[in-house]
Parts: sequence; C-alpha cells; structure tokens
Amino acid sequence: MAELPEVPTPTLTAIYADYEARQGDGFRDHLGASIIGKSCARALWYDFRWVTPARHSGRLLRLFETGQLEEDRLVRNLRATGATVLEVDPETGRQFRIEAHGGHFGGSLDGVAIGLLEAPKTWHVLEFKTHSAKSFADLTAKGVVLSKPQHAAQMQIYMHLTGITRAFYVAVCKDTDALHIERIEADGAMAERLLEKAGRVIFAQHPPARISEDPAWFECRFCDHHAVCHDSGGAAVTCRACLHSTAVEGGWHCVRHDRMLAPVEQRAACHRHLFIPDLVPGEVIDAGEDTVTYRMADGSTWTNDARTPEASAC
Ligand code: SF4
Ligand code: SF4
Repeated sequence: MAELPEVPTPTLTAIYADYEARQGDGFRDHLGASIIGKSCARALWYDFRWVTPARHSGRLLRLFETGQLEEDRLVRNLRATGATVLEVDPETGRQFRIEAHGGHFGGSLDGVAIGLLEAPKTWHVLEFKTHSAKSFADLTAKGVVLSKPQHAAQMQIYMHLTGITRAFYVAVCKDTDALHIERIEADGAMAERLLEKAGRVIFAQHPPARISEDPAWFECRFCDHHAVCHDSGGAAVTCRACLHSTAVEGGWHCVRHDRMLAPVEQRAACHRHLFIPDLVPGEVIDAGEDTVTYRMADGSTWTNDARTPEASAC
C-alpha cells in the first residue's frame, strides 16, 4: 500500500499556494481608512509609499477570507431582527465608498442600516470584524474604543464622510461564534484629527518620526517595515519610493518627467529612479541630477546612479 504523504499534504500546499498566487503585488493604491488609526504614522507613510509589499501566507489569506464570508451571515442576522441593511449603494450598485485628499485616502463600508432595535429611526454605518478568542475577550472587557482603536478610528471616518451619526459595530469570536455589538457615536473633532493625520502622511515627502527608536519595541517587532525602518533593509523600487514623485490632487506626479503617473507606471518605476534619501540607511554626501551618493553606516560609500541604461518605462 502506498504511504500517505507527509503533512502538509500536496493538496493543502496547493490550496494555500492558490491563495498566495491571487494576493496581488501587496501594494494598495490609496491610504485606507481601516489603517488610519495605526499608532505609528511612519508605518502609514511606508504603507502609502509602497516601501514593503504586504505578503501573507496562504493560511492567513484564507483567514481573511473567512472574515469576508462572515459578513453575509451578519447581514442575514441583522435582517432577521427587522433591520433594513444596504450592503451596496443603490445609486452605484457598488459598496458604499468614502474618499478624501484627492482620492488618496478612502475606504469601503460593510454597509449601512436602519431599523436596528437599539435606535430604529437612525441610520448606522455597519462595521463587521472577526476576532480571535483573546482579542474578543479584550474587546468585550474594554469596548471597541479602548480595545481596538483602529476599528474605532475607521468608523469615525466613515461616519464623518457619509454624514451618518452612529456606527454599529458587530464583532464575532472566531473560536465560539459569540457576538458582541456596540453603537458608536460620531465624534467630528476626532474624525477631523484623523483626516489631518491622513493628509500629513499622504503629502509628506519624508517619513514621520518613528514611534520608537528601539527596534525591539513591541509595535516595531510586529511591523512589516521593521527591516527598512530599523535595519538596512531595502525599499521596493517603485515610483512612490522615488525622490521625483509627489502625491498631488487626483494622482501622482513625476517632476523628472513632468507628468502624471498611472498606477501601473508607479509600480514599474523607470530607469531614472532615485530613492528618497530617507529610505537609504546612509548619509547623503553628494548629489547630481541623476545620482545621489551616500556614506553608509559601515563607512563605505554607495552611489544611487540613475544613468545606468536599463529598460525605461518612460
Ligand atoms: S518599525 Fe516601528 S517605528 Fe518603524 S514604521 Fe514600524 S512601527 Fe513605526
Ligand atoms: S517615472 Fe521614473 S523618475 Fe519619475 S517618479 Fe517614477 S521612477 Fe522616479
């Protein structure tokens, strides 16, 4: 009899590989409202500048999908209570979407609802989240504002930009299927502060200060950008990490070629690419039109030279 294959089985590997193959390039065109509550503005700037592509394992991607699949069931659950739930905007047939800062900041709502038993006449922004048992226990003990400030920030932005004054947060424990529900009141001042924070990140040519200079700081240890931020890791080569690019109303502009850049071009970059000096772990000691020379931490010099004749996107 043929021996059973070692775990992980080829099928399991293939399932996860399928998720990994479909995860895209790990760059998001806009700064998402779902992450504006992050405590480190520098991490947001790195996200927006595509410094480190987001890569996830197949297992984790499948877990994210579980969260999305849960949304349909929660909508069904709310409708069963008599609520009217709109998952898509009747005017567009697509998810309700908010935008600000010339399209650079945005997000999509899980839905809106009216007829909720707690306040039947009031429209609510709906936000659905799945949690691990540990996260769920913390949430139920402290409430969403203290336990999950990123989720609270996301809802404040959604309320502010839709003009809806209440949010309805529905959390699911992935281990037990227990539900936790909270209503959140709009706080215009907080939303304005978050919008200002988004603007500072989007239009900054240099990264904001680190949340900690200690690479072992707990938020840094779990940060996707740890290598670039605290070590000598290299940033991805895209237009967004190039010193010639600027986020402007409605898109990205390249001053080297004096034109706007489509998202596909931003991803490809061109042979004139020069890193934003903050992304190089060295000190600038010389610069020309197409070169920047650095003294690196070990005392060596390195020239970022854009005169090399490589294939050009421009
Ligand atoms: S490593 Fe730390 S300081 Fe650097 S971006 Fe991440 S959280 Fe911020
Ligand atoms: S098109 Fe070339 S020069 Fe312009 S921002 Fe992109 S990489 Fe830099």
